[in-house]
Amino acid sequence: MKPSNKEVNWLIFSDLDGSLLDHDNYSHQAADKRLLELTQKQIPLILTTSKTRAEVMTIRQELNNQHPFIIENGAAIYIPRGYFSSKPNQCIELDDFWVYRLSEPRSYWLALLNKAKKQFPHSFSHFAAMKEEVIAQVTGLSLAQAQLANQREYGEPISWLGVDKAKQEFIHWLQDQGGHVLQGGRFLHLSGPCDKGQALAWLAQEYKNQAAAADFKTIAIGDSGNDVAMLEQADLALIIRSPVHSPPKLKRVRGFFISDEFGPRGWSSGLGKIL
Ligand SMILES: [Mg+2]
Repeated sequence: MKPSNKEVNWLIFSDLDGSLLDHDNYSHQAADKRLLELTQKQIPLILTTSKTRAEVMTIRQELNNQHPFIIENGAAIYIPRGYFSSKPNQCIELDDFWVYRLSEPRSYWLALLNKAKKQFPHSFSHFAAMKEEVIAQVTGLSLAQAQLANQREYGEPISWLGVDKAKQEFIHWLQDQGGHVLQGGRFLHLSGPCDKGQALAWLAQEYKNQAAAADFKTIAIGDSGNDVAMLEQADLALIIRSPVHSPPKLKRVRGFFISDEFGPRGWSSGLGKIL
């Protein structure tokens, strides 16, 4: 029998906007000391976001983060090649990464939207059908940011132009065809049936598979609805208070904390209390 005093290894899965990054100015400065502490303690910080790979690469570089990351709301997990001693099962090789996909590629969803045009003519637009200048306009991003946001690999943001009643029919039609539709602030997001919780579960299991002797525990950090699945899934959850909306409601009754402060300030102090 092995002794039961195995050391706990934390894995931290964190949302970006409104959590590690400030809601208004996208700064992580208030969390920098805590980020340094995680690096020193060799605690993996796994960025888990609705953003595209292109968007995350920029932030990852700025944070000097070398760990796996989860993009497009759990649609895919990117693991730097060689991060684990062997390539995880079911991963494909793409650029410098081993990639585990939980959604069909974007081309699959674009083909479905092409079919939808016959059913719902002139009722919607979507990123691939827009000029990047228009994407910048409707999202409020700069042109450079809009270009990164448009490099989606696993899903498509849709802008509904018709009446509300037809929008429900449209959503049901997409769901009948196997699509997963998420209502965001500005867009409907069409992708496969994935979420941040499933992605967290897969990656945490992979850490365990790759280091059988170690005991891994997960912490999920997020501030809004698309974080709920991972906040429910993780061993511990830290909800970051938002200046613009109330904290998401969880079903779990234990193992979660709500930060006192907003954004990266709450991220830092909340994580400090847990660790
Ligand atoms: Mg957020």
